[in-house]
Amino acid sequence: MLASDRAPIDAPELVSAGVTVLAPSEEPFGEIDLLVRSPGVPDTNPILRDARARGIPVWSELELAARMLPNPIIGITGTNGKTTTTELTAHLLRASGISARACGNQGTPLSSLVGVVAADEWLCVECSSFQLEDTHRFRPTAAAFLNLSPDHLDRHGSMERYLEVKLRLFQNMRAGDLAIIPADISPPPGVLPARVVDGPLVDGAIAWSDGGLHLAGVGLVARWDDVALVGAHNRVNAMAAAALCLRAGADPEGLAAGLASFPGVSHRLEVVGELDGVLFVNDSKATNPEAAAAALSAYDRRVHLIAGGSAKGTPFDALAAAAQGSLVSAHLIGETAPEIERALRSVGIEASSVGDLDRAVRDAAAIARPGDVVLLAPACASFDQFSDYAARGEAFRAAARALGAVPGRRLGSAA
Ligand code: ADP
Repeated sequence: MLASDRAPIDAPELVSAGVTVLAPSEEPFGEIDLLVRSPGVPDTNPILRDARARGIPVWSELELAARMLPNPIIGITGTNGKTTTTELTAHLLRASGISARACGNQGTPLSSLVGVVAADEWLCVECSSFQLEDTHRFRPTAAAFLNLSPDHLDRHGSMERYLEVKLRLFQNMRAGDLAIIPADISPPPGVLPARVVDGPLVDGAIAWSDGGLHLAGVGLVARWDDVALVGAHNRVNAMAAAALCLRAGADPEGLAAGLASFPGVSHRLEVVGELDGVLFVNDSKATNPEAAAAALSAYDRRVHLIAGGSAKGTPFDALAAAAQGSLVSAHLIGETAPEIERALRSVGIEASSVGDLDRAVRDAAAIARPGDVVLLAPACASFDQFSDYAARGEAFRAAARALGAVPGRRLGSAA
């Protein structure tokens, strides 16, 4: 077996397992029967290109892992909300007494579970578009596609291709499987879509919102006041998760208990502290404009936004549109600060480019009044100033704490 990385890596585990490690290298392999690609490897990689040109089968890591695991699988994809929904789905199943774990793109590779999990444990797999490329037989029996907006176009080239890859999640579904697909997306041939509706019941809805979370065949599962997550976007995530779990055998009482007790995921609308009635909320994982717009819309309070980061070429119109209403001030950092400033100014919102995160937190805190929210929702990747979104979120937490903000309120107090 051969393994290759274009970076100079040290992989003693592979070497001791008898794998020949070629690194740093992008030299095509000689005679091989199968190529397994890591999700980070783009289609332009010379080894991948060479394998395709020679007709050698290419599998994604998901494909390899799923062939080696007998477990029932729930799949979750979408531009935004994947990790939250995946973690929530596993949490809701466990709250119903069903053995389940979250894995995939959220950090536990599916392949790391081979030989580790009991065969009947439900695997709730977060599937990124990168991981769905080169899946062939990967087959969740229940799956949700949460939403689609421009992202990762540097890798996929076009929205059409990005959508095509996302829809691979459903390619092996059979009659009786559950496919949750947004109403504005045409389902793949042969797939009957189930709808999650953030509003009253409509035809074809499997879950809907009417003061609370309703499921087809059950009725009211939980009032929104009793659900730990906040924001319209999280209503959609919660409805999708609950519908997936019902299909996997969860009971309504377990769902209600799990929706109330879900602790949330770090760096997603995470309340990191409170100071003189001002809440400091870390949504560092809002790495595209739509995610940041969702975060802005989640609060019925005056919001001071900290945004900006490295450029991905996506427009900021959605952010500017969501900013009209609750946004009081914007403190912009990183490469994209001038671009976001222009977008906000075009809708009449004052914004200032301040350079770094510490300064942004100080400036926002200085003008915030009791009851306001200081929200980090960057709408951009972090790589111009941080190693990743988590480092950015931790820097925000540290800056808020340095000002005297103290942890207190549970994640999710929207108003
Ligand atoms: P992903 O794993 O797809 O990046 P996360 O659950 O980590 O999704 O959430 C990332 C960010 O996207 C959150 O911080 C929030 O701002 C936003 N978000 C979450 N769910 C949704 C949704 N259903 N629609 C739009 N934005 C969302």
